[in-house]
Amino acid sequence: MKIICIGRNYTAHAGELNNEIPEKPVFFLKPDTSILRNNAPFYLPDFSKEIHHEVEVVIKINRLGKNINRQYAHRYFNEIGLGIDFTARDLQNECKTKGLPWEIAKAFEGSAPLGKFLSKNSFPNIDTLPFRLDINGKTVQTGNIANMIFSFDVLIEYVSKFFPLKIGDLIFTGTPEGVGPVKIGDHLQAYLNDNLLLDFRIK
Ligand code: ZN
Repeated sequence: MKIICIGRNYTAHAGELNNEIPEKPVFFLKPDTSILRNNAPFYLPDFSKEIHHEVEVVIKINRLGKNINRQYAHRYFNEIGLGIDFTARDLQNECKTKGLPWEIAKAFEGSAPLGKFLSKNSFPNIDTLPFRLDINGKTVQTGNIANMIFSFDVLIEYVSKFFPLKIGDLIFTGTPEGVGPVKIGDHLQAYLNDNLLLDFRIK
């Protein structure tokens, strides 16, 4: 399986990192070794002094497809959840300045904690769901799927032009504003429409 992460999919977050609003989705990959499941703790790596949280809505692909038309894209996922796209912001800034790929800043071990998934049928409308990240009981990021620049269907259409999608592939759909650093001892809890899906600590 593979993890596809969308960058700059919320206008306010693109602004806080001084990025332009993209005309096409921006995406990158993480390997399966980046996944952290079952609320396992995240250990701060020694190669970065600035690990940022990015809470993101995640969809799970449930059938094989490529060159998927946006009109049919909704048939390619049944479940929706939340994950964190941990980012070594100091390394990412260095990569951006030098025009280098981002993998060391984005795809390291444990950089994709993944929460429980829910059936999309458990919501009346998945196009307008709120989500948030709390750290130590205080809300640090809030978003709403309605504010994504590129919808789930557009993302599936675009990504599947380049990569065939397979069962179990995950798409992290981008983070809203409010990203910031985590430190040892922090307690992260991510909610999708008030369902607590992810609950873990930084060690
Ligand atoms: Zn992200």
